[in-house]
Amino acid sequence: MMLGDYEITVLSDGTAPRDLAEIMSAPQTVRQALARAHQTLPIDLSINAFLVNTGARLILVDTGAGALFGPDSGGRLVANLRAAGYRPEQVDAVLLTHIHSDHSGGLSLGGQRVFPHAPVYVDKHDCGSRLGTAADRKPSQAAIDPYAAADALRPFDGAVELFPGIRSMPAYGHTPGHSAYMVESRGRRLLLWGDTVHLADVQFADPAISIDYDDDRRAAVAWRETILAEAAARGYLVGGAHISFPGLGHVRADAKGYSWIVLPYNAGP
Ligand SMILES: [Zn+2]
Repeated sequence: MMLGDYEITVLSDGTAPRDLAEIMSAPQTVRQALARAHQTLPIDLSINAFLVNTGARLILVDTGAGALFGPDSGGRLVANLRAAGYRPEQVDAVLLTHIHSDHSGGLSLGGQRVFPHAPVYVDKHDCGSRLGTAADRKPSQAAIDPYAAADALRPFDGAVELFPGIRSMPAYGHTPGHSAYMVESRGRRLLLWGDTVHLADVQFADPAISIDYDDDRRAAVAWRETILAEAAARGYLVGGAHISFPGLGHVRADAKGYSWIVLPYNAGP
């Protein structure tokens, strides 16, 4: 789709099967909501990444899981990038919403950078204390190492205009440095909010329901409540990392809670 002058391509990294009733704070609500939606557990959780072509730069927001989920789930981002007519070497910058396997895993393969010409931007609270040594580093964190070694890691702090029309928004809670990115061109806005919502079927209606992946549940819930209210009031177009592909839509405020309004598909000119 076009967003003002910017071309936005949603890239699927694939899906990952997850029994969300097992890992969310209201298992019964999750089971009932999924039954009403004709879904069975485990559900196929989409992994979406977003490519922004500003004309001047090619900017990738999140990189999928790479090889970290094994051969059967995730890891399709580069193939889909190529299918969209781009090559990994053309990516000028990678912005991470946070450092978890399904977002940073695709940065590296076999210790080599997948995007050799792209510096990696990530909030310093997600990488600062983890840049040191050692054995307890997770694969999701080690994926940034080849970029750090090449002096291509660009930690930022909170709300920053990273490029013209692209700014970070601290969305802390899911991880210490979890960030959203607001993309704006000619007055049109797209909010890429990372893991603000994992399961649309329950977390719009009740934003207080959290997931075990949250580092700080209370902060994650507070951010979700704040940004849902803002997105509904201002009519933001939203892109979600785990809302069913392509994960684009709007938020509507209801009498109680919110609804997700899927963006109608447009095949282009
Ligand atoms: Zn995620």
